[in-house]
Amino acid sequence: MSRYLVTIGLETHVQLKTATKMFCGCSLRFGAEPNTNVCPVCLGYPGALPVMNREAVRLTVVSGLMLGCGINRHSTFDRKNYFYPDMSKDYQISQNTHPLCVGGGVTIRMPEGERRVRINHIHLEEDAAKINHYARHSGVDFNRCGTPLMEIVSEPDLSSPDEAMAYLQALKQILLYAGVSECNLEEGNMRSDVNISVRPEGQETLGTKVEIKNMNTFKGIYAALEYEIARQLAAVSRGGVIVQETRRWEPDLGETQPMRSKENAHDYRYFPEPDLVPVSLDEALVAEWRAALPELPAARRERMVAEYGIPEYDAGVLADAKENADFFEAAARQCGKGLGKTVSNWFMTEVMRLLSEGGRTIAECALTPEALAELVALVDSRVINGPTAKELLPELFASGGMPGALVKARGLGQVSDVSALEGLVEQALAANPKSAEDYRAGKKAAAGFLVGQVMKLSKGKADPQLVGRLVAEKLAGQA
Ligand code: ZN
Ligand code: MN
Repeated sequence: MSRYLVTIGLETHVQLKTATKMFCGCSLRFGAEPNTNVCPVCLGYPGALPVMNREAVRLTVVSGLMLGCGINRHSTFDRKNYFYPDMSKDYQISQNTHPLCVGGGVTIRMPEGERRVRINHIHLEEDAAKINHYARHSGVDFNRCGTPLMEIVSEPDLSSPDEAMAYLQALKQILLYAGVSECNLEEGNMRSDVNISVRPEGQETLGTKVEIKNMNTFKGIYAALEYEIARQLAAVSRGGVIVQETRRWEPDLGETQPMRSKENAHDYRYFPEPDLVPVSLDEALVAEWRAALPELPAARRERMVAEYGIPEYDAGVLADAKENADFFEAAARQCGKGLGKTVSNWFMTEVMRLLSEGGRTIAECALTPEALAELVALVDSRVINGPTAKELLPELFASGGMPGALVKARGLGQVSDVSALEGLVEQALAANPKSAEDYRAGKKAAAGFLVGQVMKLSKGKADPQLVGRLVAEKLAGQA
């Protein structure tokens, strides 16, 4: 049996973070009552004229610059004609011949190393309305109609569901860093069409491709790819042919099903949109946008290693979500030199644990970078011990405030007064003569038990390092 190669390409629609729609002034607030954010333009009334949203153009160009694309100084809009109840004017305004961005790519990190997935182009278009299907009827919600979408079209450079996931995750991270979209998958901010084909090893031309449309969860895309690859491989290895078609992923059935035979570009009868002038981008303006670009995730990881002296692993975890990296940097800067790794430890263990337990993001809790920085500084200067700091953290999470004030108000400062602690050490030794005996008999672990007893007697407030020293001294003196 011959071996087969799998080829995958993705077309990803990303909703841009603008206040208003692509060609009219209607609001884009999510969750509004159906058909309340509408006007003659986005309802497709004859004679209503579109006006281009400049912010949507800027956000698309910023995305292109972040992804290393070339920017077309001259770009145009086209009509993509089709009949469907979700687009009442019977065409979608899109970009066909001169999109805003061309080329570029996304670097993915796979176990076998880094690889660049090329982007063919990025174009700007409007979304269609949303059709909701009910038991006995369907309803069209035009609130979504006219939402600015940028479509990022990859080259067919991917060869497995894992690579497709790595691509989508890296892409999403860059777009979040760029601040161009919320990338909220549940709200349909990022939807992908995938193209899949298989061909025998050694064959140059790609096999017949099948497109699976409009998937908005990464999990769904992964499952659909796995299913579709297996379906195609089973067909060709039996000597069957793959029909060029569009299929739909049915999550409940766990399979793809035929939707329609694939139309070609000429079926859409693209022609230049006569109601919009071409977009001319001033070179100085693009240069200005380029100069203001945020840092890419990879560059940020490198900088964080150098600036805060944290390991690459830490930088990877922290920079995974921009808001975590922002929070860490604010706290680490406040703590100052030498404490970067300590702040990172607190964030990656205690803070992230509390976040995952509460199912929240750092933006959704009351803890501030200033409070974390103060907490770390209090432990570092031995005003409080680690266990006390750990106990304070959930409270800072839930209701905010500063740890220094809490420590003062509750008298939580650790006891580092030698004479006070010596008394407690003696008390512990007197109460546990067996442990002292064990220690002298060579069981060094008994010292740890005695330290624990002293901590208990101090109600957790003793300086554990100091207690350790005092216990060791006392035992040595008694020997
Ligand atoms: Zn409108
Ligand atoms: Mn599209």
